Amino acid sequence: MNAPLPKQPVFRFAPSPNGQLHLGHALSAILNHDMAKATSGRFLLRIEDIDLTRCTPEFEAGIYDDLGWLGLSWETPVRRQSEHLDLYRQALGRLIDRGLVYPAFLTRGAIKTAVAAFEAKGKAWPRDPDGAPLYPGEERKLSAAGWQRMLAAGKPHAWRLDMDKAIAELDAPLTWQETGAGPNGETGQIAADPAAWGDVVLSRSDAPSSYHLAVTMDDAMQGVTHVVRGRDLYHATAVHRLLQRLLDLPEPVYHHHRLIHGPDGRKLSKSNKDTGIAAFREAGKTPDDVRALIL
Ligand code: GLU
Repeated sequence: MNAPLPKQPVFRFAPSPNGQLHLGHALSAILNHDMAKATSGRFLLRIEDIDLTRCTPEFEAGIYDDLGWLGLSWETPVRRQSEHLDLYRQALGRLIDRGLVYPAFLTRGAIKTAVAAFEAKGKAWPRDPDGAPLYPGEERKLSAAGWQRMLAAGKPHAWRLDMDKAIAELDAPLTWQETGAGPNGETGQIAADPAAWGDVVLSRSDAPSSYHLAVTMDDAMQGVTHVVRGRDLYHATAVHRLLQRLLDLPEPVYHHHRLIHGPDGRKLSKSNKDTGIAAFREAGKTPDDVRALIL
């Protein structure tokens, strides 16, 4: 019998069209593209446009222009998250049915107020790896009938993962394989710590899916085998790995690359036009100049 053919690697670059791409995006896109080429793999582009209030067709067109100018080519049709909202809803529904998710009614403002009142007494409220306060999760104590009453009253709400319950479902340690490096040089087999994020949002009243849920579902649907992205998403990988286990999805290899900092030493932002790829193009630079700057 023939040995099974090794799986063809699948890479993806997954920008959000909510601003212009900058040098950090160029690094991510080029690394994904070049790694796919070096391994006879596939290179996919995915438009992460679930935040309908901030994403625009103009920014999406800018992504195609910038990547084309960099000399990259990708498979078509391009997957756009806004066209797969039902998929995210179904995944959320599965988690609701298993009692792993609850409706959370506190607004961002109310969370801030509660945390400030607590911290005024001199104790620190726990925060997630991005520095945001963990959700208090009072609703966890409500009965299903209590939730139903609030939902029936039309109170706006998010759906949050009950982190303790979700972790209790795991039957083996949660890890991932890192071929890049985390902020402290972590590499190899990494122990995932999703609890650090508390009860993460899986969908909001104004957005049908959170980044975490959509990215996890899409990577699985697109058969992505290698997730290559910036180190700012290193810690989020713990949440993605947890969702993969809960939803019975395959595990990709992760490779987090360095971030590019601006002249002020800060991480590049989409609002700073100077480091936008378009600015380099307009200044007469070549794609090789961009590669030489970042690789
Ligand atoms: N859409 C995310 C961003 O633009 C990237 C998601 C990912 O690579 O996992 O930051």
